[in-house]
Amino acid sequence: MRSLDTDYLVVGAGAMGMAFTDALIDHADVRVTLVDRRYAAGGHWQDAYPFVQLHQASLFYGVASTVLGTGAVQQQGPETGLQERARRAEIQAYFDDILYRRFLGTGRVTFLSASEYTSDGPAHFVTSRVSGERIQVNVRRRLVDATYLSPTIPATTPPPFGVADGARVVAVHELPDVVDTPSDYVIAGTGKTATDAIIWLLGNGVEPDRILWVRPRDPWMLNRALVQPDPAVAFGLAADTMTAAADATSLDDLFLRLEAEGVMLRVDREVVPTMAKAPTLATWELELLRSIERVVRLGHIRQVTTAELVLDRGTVPLAPDSLVVHCAASGLQYPPMVPIWEPVAIRLQSIRAGFPCFGAALAGYVEATRDDDRERNRVCPPNVYPNSTAEWALMQARGAIATATFGAEPDIAAWANGCALNPARVDPSRRDDPAVQRAAARLAEWRERGLARLTALANDSEG
Ligand SMILES: Cc1cc2nc3c(=O)[nH]c(=O)nc-3n(C[C@H](O)[C@H](O)[C@H](O)COP(=O)(O)OP(=O)(O)OC[C@H]3O[C@@H](n4cnc5c(N)ncnc54)[C@H](O)[C@@H]3O)c2cc1C
Repeated sequence: MRSLDTDYLVVGAGAMGMAFTDALIDHADVRVTLVDRRYAAGGHWQDAYPFVQLHQASLFYGVASTVLGTGAVQQQGPETGLQERARRAEIQAYFDDILYRRFLGTGRVTFLSASEYTSDGPAHFVTSRVSGERIQVNVRRRLVDATYLSPTIPATTPPPFGVADGARVVAVHELPDVVDTPSDYVIAGTGKTATDAIIWLLGNGVEPDRILWVRPRDPWMLNRALVQPDPAVAFGLAADTMTAAADATSLDDLFLRLEAEGVMLRVDREVVPTMAKAPTLATWELELLRSIERVVRLGHIRQVTTAELVLDRGTVPLAPDSLVVHCAASGLQYPPMVPIWEPVAIRLQSIRAGFPCFGAALAGYVEATRDDDRERNRVCPPNVYPNSTAEWALMQARGAIATATFGAEPDIAAWANGCALNPARVDPSRRDDPAVQRAAARLAEWRERGLARLTALANDSEG
């Protein structure tokens, strides 16, 4: 068997593996082997639905060395004034460029594409899905698990319900390929993918009453206008969160206060959501989503037949030729939080609240610049991806503490402030801006009380 020696073996060339590798090779003279079972870099974006876009600004996504997109503000369309958001093709091209031009161009990175990583005790193997060749990889320094939070998506996950013979069900990425126009579109799913599918259908002229939306839960979403690469906006959002938390009597009360401040959005004002993955949403999208009146709230779909949907708490008849669109993969994953640095591997996770690319890049920088794993884990505690309102509160609390901890290290603070992926970075030209100073002062005033209450709300709910 052929063998290969490397300092780091990074498993997963998705956004997190790419962001880690980028920061690592920029700050340490090391050799990295990157492996992915997909042919190209970029992870789930390779199989995403064609009309997907980042839900946040392009500047916040990708690797630290190279900005994704142009950093421009949109000049036309319903999001005029908000930062541009990359589409699938742009994200794919970006990661391709980072991999081939930047990483391989250094001569210090090897990419093993279309290859499966496996281990046998301490031994590491990579098997090509194309040739079948198995290579033993001797890792001098660290194994890096950049798959721990890899999302599941409809294109690669079967629908979580039965499909009877003759029933029409497609995964969301197949939607643009549908040729015989269905009578009704049934959207199965509640999260960002489902909302994207509805907005795409409406944008393509489908009347709202031809869309049936199966919503087992209702989601809270963040107002996109408040998640922008502008320190006055970023500090303002953090201050709003802490202010709302400080006096919140419950998790629901916290989210309703945030809604009153224009931070959180919900589709149906009659229902208090329980789901808080909290992707961003623009207000023009919210208005479109509110035009869907045929909403089914009978739990999850169990079975689709040619004539009806069978759900947890009842059945709904389907018009002949209805098309069910599978948007019901769980997306974000929720494995237990573990220390990022463990003897067996570095397991990439978020560190701030959200912004996984920043977390992975920060871990790459810290790996390169510190020798002791205890110290690395101290400055980079892991964070959760949120699903429930309690997890959202926990994520905010952990993120605030983590930001203060790594921000207290002068070199990390300087690196983070030069990194576009960091939503709290303050460009030197904005330091004396009164709007930034006002927002920062408001955050400082409310931070302690808000943080204590966020922690209590998250813990109460756990108990
Ligand atoms: C539709 C959608 C939109 C999103 N939009 C945003 C956004 O706008 N902003 C944001 O910050 N986050 C967003 N996210 C959140 C998402 O978590 C991030 O995109 C995240 O960066 C995912 O990257 P990843 O590297 O963790 O996982 P992945 O992209 O899944 O990459 C992991 C890679 O590991 C490979 N792999 C796994 N196991 C093995 C193995 N044994 N051997 C070899 N290879 C293996 C997989 O093939 C995969 O390519 C979005 C998620 C989805 C689903």
